[in-house]
Amino acid sequence: MSILKQNPLPFFINGQYISPIGRQTFENINPANGSLNFNILEGNADDIDHAVSSARSALTGPWSNIDIDKRASLLHKVADLIDNRRDEFLRAEILDTGKPIKLAGHIDIPRGAANFRIFADIIKSQSDETFRMPTPDGGEAINLTVRKPKGIIAVICPWNLPLLLMTWKVAPALACGNTVVVKPSEETPATATLLGEIMNDAGIPPGVYNVVHGFGPDSAGEHLTRHPDVDAVTFTGETITGASIMRSVADDIKDVSFELGGKNPAIIFADADFEQAIEGTSRSVFANCGQVCLSTERVYVERPIFDRFTEELRKCASNLVRGDPFTQETSLGPLISHTHRNKVLSYYRRATELGANVIVGGGAPDMPEPWGKGCWIEPTLWTGLEESSPIVKDEIFGPCCHLSPFDDIDEVIGLANDTEYGLAATLWTQDVKKANQVAARIESGITWVNCWFLRDLRTPFGGTKKSGIGREGGEYSLEFYTELQNICLKV
Ligand code: NAD
Repeated sequence: MSILKQNPLPFFINGQYISPIGRQTFENINPANGSLNFNILEGNADDIDHAVSSARSALTGPWSNIDIDKRASLLHKVADLIDNRRDEFLRAEILDTGKPIKLAGHIDIPRGAANFRIFADIIKSQSDETFRMPTPDGGEAINLTVRKPKGIIAVICPWNLPLLLMTWKVAPALACGNTVVVKPSEETPATATLLGEIMNDAGIPPGVYNVVHGFGPDSAGEHLTRHPDVDAVTFTGETITGASIMRSVADDIKDVSFELGGKNPAIIFADADFEQAIEGTSRSVFANCGQVCLSTERVYVERPIFDRFTEELRKCASNLVRGDPFTQETSLGPLISHTHRNKVLSYYRRATELGANVIVGGGAPDMPEPWGKGCWIEPTLWTGLEESSPIVKDEIFGPCCHLSPFDDIDEVIGLANDTEYGLAATLWTQDVKKANQVAARIESGITWVNCWFLRDLRTPFGGTKKSGIGREGGEYSLEFYTELQNICLKV
């Protein structure tokens, strides 16, 4: 029987699925049709304690005795096993998120496996550094700078790309010799749970990978970040949650890596390849129903092409196909939950109250059965709002954006940077010199030119300003997941 059929959905601690007696449970709802996916156990402080002590035993025990070659080959095995069970992971991810199979099959699940492969390979290519120095007595000393695992890493995940974003942290953590306790989003517990079976089948020692379900404040999330034996916290989620986690870890001075929110601009110059810019901008606004930290929510279009661009983007929005996430035709899934839909709809209402021109959408569609109880929403475009309006300032995290015209480069750079976030930006122009000059002045962790969501996993990923702390990706992940020690040896 699949572990996902167990009711309630259990924790995975010390290599075993466990369901402690007397815990509260909560429901997980399929956002496409409103049906019950799972009842889930909610972890308390004792469960976190159990998971952390298992992670500690594995860290100082079996995991520390496995050399880098063996560790890397185990992680490759994990990747292969995810690939072998691709359809199960795909189904679990779609039931949890409602995202279209075309997207999850192309991005979420393959990237889940790829994350293990890339960090397995990176860790094998690492070498320690040595620095020779003369000593005052005419001798010599050799400094040996070594990377050690940081310890127990708390991994706190969001719901928008559950397997992809969790493995983006679990894979480098394990590659570097750490052990992890994962707190998946309460909205998307399935693939993190399923991964426990893969870890066991791959031969990863018990206690290296642990999962405890629950919520954030006063629940498993906060217990985990506050646990005194956790060495560092890697978190992806909302900026406001990041601030709260920072307060939780302050007393113990735990290291944090934060991938937070964004309000990402796209700048379309009149000399852009128009078709390419439309296709890329449409994807960047509507993919995953706008629930990607890298989604575009502000579009600045050079005035001569503003009307034409707005009209073509409207056509793209109107052509999106809602419906069964398991069919290839569906291009727009639901939002993750009714709570989130209420939040997005409140911005839709606010935009109208503030006098926006609603180019398309602006509400929730009537869906035929069996989708009537799902969290569906219309893709929406606005023009005409002040830059200071909450629609242009706040991260909405839905399939929507505001479009404004601009007249010159300095103006548009000022507009693009006028945000508390700094995660991603996208430029569309055929003038390479202009692209280079503008990109250099944009305050963002990643700037795409004539593309969007193109990622080489060796490159640094993260945000400036309130979009995050630190960079993960390729060798940059080692900065967070290892502790450097210098050993000075007088010879
Ligand atoms: P969220 O912050 O609400 O929740 C994320 C996780 O944190 C969940 O597992 C939640 O249970 C947990 N949590 C909440 N409060 C906590 C607390 N006080 N202590 C410990 N854990 C706590 O985020 P979300 O709604 O799941 O995800 C959407 C957000 O994530 C958006 O803001 C989006 O931009 C951001 N995001 C950022 C990136 C990035 O790479 N920068 C990637 C994906 C998503």
